[in-house]
Amino acid sequence: MKIWLDGGLQDIESARVSVFDHGLTVGDGIFETVKAVDGRPFALTRHLDRLTRSARGLGLPDPDLDEVRRACTAVLEANPMPLGRLRITYTGGHGPLGSDRGEHGTTLVVALGETSRRPDSTAVVTVPWTRNERGALTGLKTTSYAENVVALARARERDASEALFGNTVGQLCEGTGSNVFVVLDGEIHTPPLASGCLAGITRALVVEWTGAKETDLPLDVLQRADEIFLTSTLRDVQAVHRVDDRELPGAPGPVTAKAMRIFDERSAADLDP
Ligand code: PLP
Repeated sequence: MKIWLDGGLQDIESARVSVFDHGLTVGDGIFETVKAVDGRPFALTRHLDRLTRSARGLGLPDPDLDEVRRACTAVLEANPMPLGRLRITYTGGHGPLGSDRGEHGTTLVVALGETSRRPDSTAVVTVPWTRNERGALTGLKTTSYAENVVALARARERDASEALFGNTVGQLCEGTGSNVFVVLDGEIHTPPLASGCLAGITRALVVEWTGAKETDLPLDVLQRADEIFLTSTLRDVQAVHRVDDRELPGAPGPVTAKAMRIFDERSAADLDP
């Protein structure tokens, strides 16, 4: 498999990143996961905008977006797949341990291989840990994902695929790698960005395309919502059929099923050329 590293395509077996890369040693890095259909990336401009926002939030130099675009094209050409994902990673680069930042940023683009279409519904758990809606990293898509890995392990123990966080004031926030929506009396709601959630690209499109409202929601809304669904680049729109001990039989319900249909139709028409 060919990947892009620091300016060109390389064989994955021989590509090298420094052991002193700050992305590895302290998680000083950012990333994007981009869907690709038949070699065409989906919503790449939105992903690159968020990459730049994350870089600025972390104090990294702006990524070279021309290089990242070229890298995405080259990696997709080198790894043809009908439905796949690209992972773009951009780090502070390598430098002495303990220094604020590496001397040369690292830009890495890999294909995550072929992915199958997600199941229509899944189980989720809530976790006792909170997202900090006012942290230094809030809203940035950094490579510091260890908290999510811990939460996801809790989900796996309960045969669930996602763990949902509340924030420090007890409001619903997001999943480890997804945004969350609930249906109340036929209306779709999702926590606002001020809840501390990531500005998910799938979330933004679903809000735009379905008229979902951004609403402060207490965490216990999950116990009474008529329907619940998740959004992310990996899941698109995915219904929830169990949250903790609560079953939601018949998921996807009618409102979620409509959101899934709208998303599938509109996103297919919105692929980059
Ligand atoms: N929230 C978090 C913490 C994420 O990591 C992600 C995606 O990785 C999302 C939400 C969903 O964002 P997107 O729809 O852009 O994939």
